[in-house]
Amino acid sequence: MYPAIPVTMTKNPKQKPVPGQPLPFGQNFTDHMFIMDYVEGQGWINPRIEAYAPFLIEPSAMVFHYGQAVFEGLKAYRCPDGTINLFRPRLNYERMNNSDERLVIPALDEDFCVYATKELVSLDREWIPSGEGESLYIRPFVIATDPYLGVRPSYTYRFMIILAPSGAYYPQGINPVKIYVEDNYVRAVRGGTGFTKCAGNYASSLIAQDIAHKKGYVQVLWLDGIEQKYIEEVGSMNILFVIDGKLVTPALNGSILPGITRRSCIELAKSLGMEVEEKRLSIDELIEAGKSKRLTEAFGSGTAAVISPVGELKYEDTVITINDNKIGPVAQLFYDTITGVQKGLLEDKYGWTIKV
Ligand SMILES: *Cc1c(COP(=O)(O)O)cnc(C)c1O
Repeated sequence: MYPAIPVTMTKNPKQKPVPGQPLPFGQNFTDHMFIMDYVEGQGWINPRIEAYAPFLIEPSAMVFHYGQAVFEGLKAYRCPDGTINLFRPRLNYERMNNSDERLVIPALDEDFCVYATKELVSLDREWIPSGEGESLYIRPFVIATDPYLGVRPSYTYRFMIILAPSGAYYPQGINPVKIYVEDNYVRAVRGGTGFTKCAGNYASSLIAQDIAHKKGYVQVLWLDGIEQKYIEEVGSMNILFVIDGKLVTPALNGSILPGITRRSCIELAKSLGMEVEEKRLSIDELIEAGKSKRLTEAFGSGTAAVISPVGELKYEDTVITINDNKIGPVAQLFYDTITGVQKGLLEDKYGWTIKV
């Protein structure tokens, strides 16, 4: 048990999203936020919940100059019986500590972070939307706050959790997306930060996203940073394929983000008796499987969209269409099962959820 977290309630409660009205993803924030500071020699101190509001920070704060910043993303769901589910939150905080370690940010107590998340979500529970595809997106993050110019790890940090009631990531429903295989820029290299959710990874990926968007593609599929030959992942999703009836996905190699949705898909496939292969998969092998129709499904996995089918892949001059641009049975089953467990519509046989 942890001591109660001090709460200073907002003096200006905001208008909550109106049920039935469109709810954009990640644009509105709830009334409160969680804050905790780190001071060298004292550790993580002064946990508190306050009104969601701008805060003061020095222009010289190291995060602005040297990019010591990591984040996580998870969701809370309103169940039909009125309870609130979190989906595997401890895995998010374990991963955040892996990101922290790589960026020389002091570790956080994972169980305390789960507790703080529950307390904050519980306080702002009226903000959790319950429409189709809607949930409360939870964004924990850590930034370096030392007012100092010079490259070294910061001595002070701030950890915060903010909450965004959000609609479906793709408001038009789960329609297959078109993906551009990036053969120029790379996202991550061996020994780099690919396995972390550090802010810099996303800054450096924007240019490829931008080019893909201009060409009419929704997302980029990244290849490995060394040979630009092996498939890694999509912008903010892992990628999974069904080839010869097997679930095939790139093995975690240090440059791929170890997604919790990816892990849940693998566990689900195994529990259903489906063969799973985590391996080094080259783009040539994938194109070949596509041409010979052995590739029957492709889909991204991530917290935001859960499952996002891929209808078309473009690599150099080759375009392959997958499953006639329709969602396939495996993607649909994974989507229905994972979202069903998340929203409390299906029994959680896997122990994935915890109640707030
Ligand atoms: C967050 C993220 C994922 C998906 O991880 P989940 O835990 O499933 O949300 C995959 N790739 C990248 C690059 C990410 O940032």
